[in-house]
Amino acid sequence: MRSVLAVGDAKAKPGEIAKGSLGSVELADGSRAHVPVIIVNGAEDGPVLTVIAAIHGTEISGIGAIHELVKTMDPKKLRGALLAVPGGNPLAFRIGVYTTPIDGKNLSGPWYLPAVDKATANITQRMAICINAALEKADYVIDVHANPLPSIGFVLTDLEMCPDDRVKKDVVRMAKAFGLTTINWPRKQATSIRDVCSQNGKPSITHELPGNIYMWDEVNRIGARGIRNVMKELGMLEGALEKQTETVVKGDLTFYGWLIAQRGGLMCVRRKPGELIRKGETAVEIVDVYGDVIQDVKMPINGYCWSFTGGVHGSHAVSEGDHLAYIFADTKELGGAAFVEKPM
Ligand SMILES: [Zn+2]
Repeated sequence: MRSVLAVGDAKAKPGEIAKGSLGSVELADGSRAHVPVIIVNGAEDGPVLTVIAAIHGTEISGIGAIHELVKTMDPKKLRGALLAVPGGNPLAFRIGVYTTPIDGKNLSGPWYLPAVDKATANITQRMAICINAALEKADYVIDVHANPLPSIGFVLTDLEMCPDDRVKKDVVRMAKAFGLTTINWPRKQATSIRDVCSQNGKPSITHELPGNIYMWDEVNRIGARGIRNVMKELGMLEGALEKQTETVVKGDLTFYGWLIAQRGGLMCVRRKPGELIRKGETAVEIVDVYGDVIQDVKMPINGYCWSFTGGVHGSHAVSEGDHLAYIFADTKELGGAAFVEKPM
């Protein structure tokens, strides 16, 4: 941007990169946890893209994707600006847990645009207030998440949250440019940054990386490549879109529901993520400690699993009631129903 861009305590002149903090929360011992921000301010005018990683503290691979992205960027060749938040929930990611360990709350909530009232906010919402500053500046938003292995890399949209055709069209453009499998997850209420931003006229997608607890070049590059592709699509960067190395599932795809453990035991993944599994075929078997199968978990629909998530901390030792896998399917398999969200 041809003007100084400032957010939190970071300030970048045109053609500069600045690193700082969107704000912090204070803990019992007087230490503070900062929400980091990187500003890459382009030399020319253009849109502002905000990219957030590790809203869930077990999903640090998104931080790796941001590092890889920033490393490959030259602000002098950028139109507009990138606002990157490499570590949305510092309290959670520092100890490798999903939600904020102090209050157990999920930072991926509806606490954005507008920010909640600080005086009555819990500590998770106070970190959301910091992140909200980067969302207010954004024209477009990518929220980077990740799944435990085995999983595929993909993009989630919520077209039903888009208030008009302009936002919907831009969400579709961003998802397509990213270059991975695109799955629509229509929600009835805004419950994530993707939903809230799109609802507020800031086209937004969620990127899900394959592998969550790693800082691993191969994974980092998938995210960085996808975000660069979106920046090219939005006219922020020059050049042709880069082809992703991941296998892409084609079709008009929609989230369907979960495979759910009815028995406690050890989950054996019998199929590959992103592979077509026919209705009635075994996707997972749960075995007891002796290796005997105690539940044959069959696919409820002709569809795919994007991740075999497992139990606590992604372990494949599962308790009854644990979500074993996320299912998606071609919309025509759902019989025209826009949304099912059916536990199986
Ligand atoms: Zn997540």
